[in-house]
Amino acid sequence: MATAAPAREILTLSGVVQGVGFRPFAYRLATSLGLVGKVWNQGGDLLIDIQGSPSQLQAYKTQLLANKPTQAQVRALAADTATVIPHRHDFAIVDSTPGAVQGAIPVDLRLCAQCLNELFDPHHRRYRYPFITCAECGPRYSLIRRLPFDRARTSMDAFPQCPACLHEYNDPEQRRHHAQTNSCAACGPALQWYDKHGDLHQNIDPIAAAWQGLSQGQIIAVKGVGGVHLLCDAGNARAVADLRQRKQRPHKPFAIMTLNRASLAGMAEIDDHTEQLLQGADAPIALTRKGPDCDRRLSGVAPQCADIGVMYPYAPIHYLLFHQALRCPADTTWLEQAQPLTLVVTSANLSGEPLITDNAQCLRDLQGVADGFLLHNRDILARSDDSVLQNSQPAIYVRRGRGLAPNVIELAQEGPSVLAFGGFLKNTLCVSQGNRAFVSPYIGDLDRAAACRDLDLTVERLLETLAIQPDLIACDLHPDFYSTQAARRYSERLDVPLLQVQHHHAHCLATMAEAGLRGPVLGLALDGFGLGDDGGIWGGELLWMNGADYRRLGGLRPLPLPGGDSAVREPWRLGVAALLSQGREEDAERLFGAHPGYAMLRQMLAKNVNCPRTSSAGRYFDAAAAILGVRHHTDHEAHAAMALETLCRQTPPTSDASFLFEITSEGALDLYPLLDALTTCEPHAGARLFHDVLVRGLLAWVDWARAKTGVGRIALGGGCFLNRVLRESLTCGLRARGMQVHAPRQMPPNDSGISLGQVWYAYLRAQHQPPAPNAVIETDQPTCV
Ligand SMILES: [Zn+2]
Ligand SMILES: [Zn+2]
Repeated sequence: MATAAPAREILTLSGVVQGVGFRPFAYRLATSLGLVGKVWNQGGDLLIDIQGSPSQLQAYKTQLLANKPTQAQVRALAADTATVIPHRHDFAIVDSTPGAVQGAIPVDLRLCAQCLNELFDPHHRRYRYPFITCAECGPRYSLIRRLPFDRARTSMDAFPQCPACLHEYNDPEQRRHHAQTNSCAACGPALQWYDKHGDLHQNIDPIAAAWQGLSQGQIIAVKGVGGVHLLCDAGNARAVADLRQRKQRPHKPFAIMTLNRASLAGMAEIDDHTEQLLQGADAPIALTRKGPDCDRRLSGVAPQCADIGVMYPYAPIHYLLFHQALRCPADTTWLEQAQPLTLVVTSANLSGEPLITDNAQCLRDLQGVADGFLLHNRDILARSDDSVLQNSQPAIYVRRGRGLAPNVIELAQEGPSVLAFGGFLKNTLCVSQGNRAFVSPYIGDLDRAAACRDLDLTVERLLETLAIQPDLIACDLHPDFYSTQAARRYSERLDVPLLQVQHHHAHCLATMAEAGLRGPVLGLALDGFGLGDDGGIWGGELLWMNGADYRRLGGLRPLPLPGGDSAVREPWRLGVAALLSQGREEDAERLFGAHPGYAMLRQMLAKNVNCPRTSSAGRYFDAAAAILGVRHHTDHEAHAAMALETLCRQTPPTSDASFLFEITSEGALDLYPLLDALTTCEPHAGARLFHDVLVRGLLAWVDWARAKTGVGRIALGGGCFLNRVLRESLTCGLRARGMQVHAPRQMPPNDSGISLGQVWYAYLRAQHQPPAPNAVIETDQPTCV
């Protein structure tokens, strides 16, 4: 019987194909099917030169996608036929070649189930080895110097493999074949224990020392994957209070780590959906509803919150602490059982500073904060905070860091290479190439020198790792933001044009980018603060957008912001301002008269001195929280809003459909009547009324905009959409009206998404679509170009 003539193809796979065990998998599949050829990394892609009978070749391609490694994501598979090479007898994994990086940067992956079992197998040579990894798990982004992902280009290059490890690395039959982070106790990184004075103790078991400290209520700094964390026993109220005091973080909730779902019983509501999120390879913190015992057992961990952030161990070092707490059981059944230990795990930084990654800095900056230091000698080359998501359907990201970023957002079109600098708070960068946008991990608020330095480093790192030369730079309109200043510098240095994009336009553009929308579309941005193109302080905006053009249809009726920024930390000032501007002196006096600064504030308002106005939705939450007596002072940006939401969620919706709002002839949504009504409410009912009327007002506002423009779809954006009640009721109401609603899915709705919006602006501008004929709109107002 004649056999079919052999065929040869070159397969190019792009997506998340490096650092996830794809080359060994491609090898095993080829040899099992009797195919010959080779596989290698090129740039960010994976290339396979494969040769054999056409039917086996077909089977290979099918199984390559169907049975790919768990963490791999294949975005595209291109197959090119090639001339058959005679006398080939084997299949090999060959050296990487550089090339245009079209792929993704591999992200840090949680410890896999097989490695976890080996970690606690007393007969395994990696028993309790804190850096156990394989081809399918372990750190990636945090230790990569540049692509392709090979050991020589990572911080693992300091640890040459011992003969046993090298054997595993070279043996195609092993799980650690071509695992770039492969190591063992003989050749790999090691833990170190430092006492509170920063003195190294060589003869102490670091894990045992750390656990001893934790069990005694101490605060221990632990160097993990993307940075250093501070840990303490979450069940020890004194330890938690110490941590708050030393970290200068009086109120902001902490996240907890428990071993598994069973351990969370009574403390957090974990359904199957949440469990799935928590078990993801990105091992995020999931914000989920507290259980009935939460506040009693975890006193002071997440005060005044309806939700608590929970996470499971993701690095071997975490599991080792749990194992130690149980006095090192010899089997692995404990991994499945409920465990009493609950840890607070929080970024090791001083309030507002970026996460610490460096040993020396850690020992220096955390003197007096940590009582002991569990560190190691593997360098963290890129910082990433833990990722945080809200457990809702679908899940909403609050922060994208370790395990997720730099993530790739597929764009609906090709465009110029853009380097976008984002905004100011919760900042990220975004770099684009072709139809992909790479969003950096969360960098943080740019009011600290260290965060600004981190921004500069991240720019260099992204451009270098991805080998991208930007054609355009994009940034915010605000001239004082560090990101804007950095953007100007880069624009001059690289001699490429600078585009400035209005903040709330960028919020809605980010949502458009994810959904592939070009317009016309309405945009609703509910946010804290951003500079308007009229020089005003915006933050609650209804926009009409088409291509790169936009027009502001209206904003929330502005609130006076007496004292400017200080009003953000002192919502009572907003309460006074809102009431006095309505002539409600008695109410203002009754609710706020006892504040020492009250008389002076009245004068400021009367003379209109240092009282800028803002249409910010966030400030409406602050004013409402102040009037209801929920919070007069805040220690973080969403503090008052979160407290208000918590009260609202504890209260059933109102059936009262009173119209405590008005849409003015200029298109502003006036919520002053609602603020007035709150003066006679108790906190729970008031928080509920505020949310319900706000949503009703927004729905009426969108109805008005739809009637005016004929546009039936809307893009939502801005930090206020992290409020579940607002997000869910508004979306539901808009859908009931037949609106097509788009909200951020891959990016957080807050300012972390601004950089992506700026990139999409550049793409739409490059494409320059004329306004669609069905947009019934006058374009006599200035647009931001
Ligand atoms: Zn593994
Ligand atoms: Zn070794």
